[in-house]
Amino acid sequence: PVRVRFCPSPTGSPHVGLVRTALFNWAFARHHGGQIVFRMEDTDRERSTQESYDAIVDLWRWLGLDWDEGIEVGGPHGPYKQSERGDIYRDVLARLRDSSYSYDCFCTNDEVTARRQASGSKMQGYDGFCRELSDEQRAAFEADGRSPIVRFRMPDGSITWNDAVRGDITFETENVPDFALSRANGDPLYTLVNPVDDALMGITHVLRGEDLLSSTPRQLALFEALVALGIAREVPIYGHLPYVMGQGNKKLSKRDPEAHALAYREQGFLPEGLLNYLALLGWAIAADRDIFSMQEMLEAFDIQDVNPNPARFDLKKAEAINASQMRLLSVEDITHRALPFLKEAGVVSDPVSDADAQLLELAMPLVAERINKLTEAAPMLDFLFVDEADFVRTDELDDTAKGVVKAAHDAVVGLDTWSTAAIDEALRGKLIDELGLKPRLAFAPVRIAVSGKKVSPPLFESMELLGRDRSIARLRSALG
Ligand code: GLU
Repeated sequence: PVRVRFCPSPTGSPHVGLVRTALFNWAFARHHGGQIVFRMEDTDRERSTQESYDAIVDLWRWLGLDWDEGIEVGGPHGPYKQSERGDIYRDVLARLRDSSYSYDCFCTNDEVTARRQASGSKMQGYDGFCRELSDEQRAAFEADGRSPIVRFRMPDGSITWNDAVRGDITFETENVPDFALSRANGDPLYTLVNPVDDALMGITHVLRGEDLLSSTPRQLALFEALVALGIAREVPIYGHLPYVMGQGNKKLSKRDPEAHALAYREQGFLPEGLLNYLALLGWAIAADRDIFSMQEMLEAFDIQDVNPNPARFDLKKAEAINASQMRLLSVEDITHRALPFLKEAGVVSDPVSDADAQLLELAMPLVAERINKLTEAAPMLDFLFVDEADFVRTDELDDTAKGVVKAAHDAVVGLDTWSTAAIDEALRGKLIDELGLKPRLAFAPVRIAVSGKKVSPPLFESMELLGRDRSIARLRSALG
């Protein structure tokens, strides 16, 4: 059975590239009826924070990227936080140390650099000095008070794997230096723990970002050793997802504001919208189709269809996709999802009063079709909910506009019934038919008078909802 993993490092605010990687793992696993393991790669104690951990869990839950075992839910291969797996790593490290797959290394970085310079070699990384230490050399280092690190012995020859996204990739191991598995104090390093966890958690497919591709030959070599030592069952299939590029064809980095996944939620994106957009970074459901549900994605997803070329992140497109996903929701659903934003903006009371709930139910149909993000409801609707004393016009009316408002006031002030149809008829009759104004010039000043701004939900409906007294009061106050 397919087993994949989510394995973010809880350092800082989660990046959209991380979410894209998780999404592709999710779609792949769910397509194959497989399982997803969620492990937290918090080995870097200095940079890992609880805040980042919480943000990641919260984000995954909001997105609906569910997992079968791992942090928060448990399972048979725990613990699922690397910071709690020290004993496991130490045990594996001891077994590697007893084998010929690794060796003790006493060199300092300065010594390695000095030897590289002396030999005129351009190679980076370790030069293999400690590979075959004699007993005397070892004794001399120890007498010097040095404690060794454990270093992996890269095999000779080449390493080839069939990348699930890129096809065959070969590295000559002479270009891949022996690498450290532990620190001198015995702490295991990330180069060790990531493959060890994949081995012990039975991961069958490692789908991850292209930025990790250069570490794959080392991990594969280590995996072979783990298989030979009976620690791993088999080497997983690796697949490297394309880079996500930002402005100016540079990799989208943490410094780019659009890289922060949480910001989309705060800005009122739907999880469906964000996921739909991120799915397009390297994948397509069909050449002529951009909008789809996650159910449709998981049914159609084939890792072989992922495009290995860098994908460009385009905020405008993300917003357009989100807008299209909004159009697929019912008004009730949009109302429900917009409610936290309306509360936060102070448009409705918290908890929502019956009066606010009733007005919202009537008002939301006017804007549901027009908003592209959930946050856009509040500034469109606030004029309906605000107390008259707090009502402000953000747009100005000049004398001509005030003339129009006066005429509008006179047209509606005596209406028998206060309804959309009656307001419509009265205003059109007066401003268009009688005064001969163009619709845009006729209704814009009225809109500003009653809603306070140039853009609002449909005017006549808005005036009906606002009610006679408040509408008339606002038309009057606009004249003053
Ligand atoms: N924890 C790593 C990261 O967040 C992922 C490593 C992997 O997928 O193998 O970059």
